[in-house]
Parts: sequence; structure tokens; C-alpha cells
Amino acid sequence: MKVTDVEMVMSAVDPKQYPTTGHPEIGFLGRSNVGKSSLTNVLMNRKDYAHTSGQPGKTQTLNFYEINHSMYFVDVPGYGYAKVSKTEREKWATMIETYLTQRKTLRGVINLIDGRHEPSDYDFQMRDWLDYYHIPVLYVATKVDKLAKSKIPHQQQMLRRELELDEDEPLVMFSAKTKIGQDQIEAWIEQQAH
Ligand code: GDP
Repeated sequence: MKVTDVEMVMSAVDPKQYPTTGHPEIGFLGRSNVGKSSLTNVLMNRKDYAHTSGQPGKTQTLNFYEINHSMYFVDVPGYGYAKVSKTEREKWATMIETYLTQRKTLRGVINLIDGRHEPSDYDFQMRDWLDYYHIPVLYVATKVDKLAKSKIPHQQQMLRRELELDEDEPLVMFSAKTKIGQDQIEAWIEQQAH
């Protein structure tokens, strides 16, 4: 799936604001700074189309991008961002949970984790949570250009083991700099959204 056309269609907080065209959707989840904008910009072949990341206090919304007039990429704001109040965090959690559980056109979620480190508590929580809702997930480990090439397979195995991923749960090692992993991510999206 190559992206040839992108339109930012809307920002939504409430299900009433979600687009109603019925296109299949892929959600992108990841904590602030994990590399979500960089990944979506690579996939959308844009320099700075998506930039949602983390000014504290900024309203966090679901951002819908219409791709090739036939599907949506949905930028889901980071869950559990540290610098906001508990009330704000609870509001986000509700927004995200509502989206993930009620959106019928959601075909899968790309869950970003930092590829340089061991999984964080946040990553474990997200994995448990996505498992619980039985949403198809592609794990994407970001920033792997920061690893020595020879270390990448080992790091991938470690992440799979730590996250206790099953055979049928893919994890792609990705870099927005070298574009390693891009083809696998595009193939997965195509598979989910066809
Ligand atoms: P977001 O907050 O998740 O949208 O993260 P961004 O895409 O804005 O990236 C956060 C920081 O990580 C920025 O300084 C990026 O330049 C850097 N970054 C993102 N992806 C990569 C990558 O693949 N390799 C490297 N080396 N840096 C990256």
C-alpha cells in the first residue's frame, strides 16, 4: 500500500465527531516522543504532516487522515502522558478506550514502542490492554538506527520475549531515518484494510 493522497479530515474527541464514510481504519498508538509522527510522516511520504506531539496542556484529540480516498490513519494521542493532571489523563483514557472498543471500522492498531530499550511499564500495560480487547496489533519498535545493525535481531527477540508476543503477533523493527521496516508495516496495513 503506497500512499498517494492524504487529507487531514478531522480531529475528534467524541464518537459523534468520527467520520462516517465507513472506510477501514488503522490506529497509531504511542507515547509522546516514541516516534509516531516520524513513522506516519514516512508512511504518508510527507515531511511534517503529522505533528501532534506533546505540548503539555494542548488538547489531545484523535486525528483522522484520509488516505488514498479509501481508508483512515488515526493518530491516537499518547496514553498516560506524565505531565498532565489525573483528571486530564482519565479523560484521555476514556476517549481512547471508547475509540478502541466502539469503532466498528477499526481494523487494527499499530502500537509503537521504543526499539532501543527494554519494554517499559507503559508498554506492558498497553499490551495487556490491547490483548484484552482482541484488537489486531502490529508492534513497531522505533529508532532502530540507533542500534548496531548486528544487534537488531537480538533486540527484536528480546522485545518479543519480554512482551510475550505470540507467533501471530508481528513486531517490526523500524527506523524513520533508514526506513528499515517500512515495507513490512505497509504490507500489514494492506492486509488489515483490504
Ligand atoms: P512523537 O512524539 O511520538 O510523534 O515523536 P516524533 O516523531 O516527534 O519523534 C520524537 C523524537 O525522536 C524526534 O526528535 C525525532 O527526530 C526522533 N526520532 C523519531 N523517529 C526516529 C528514528 O527512527 N530514528 C532516530 N534516530 N530518531 C527518531
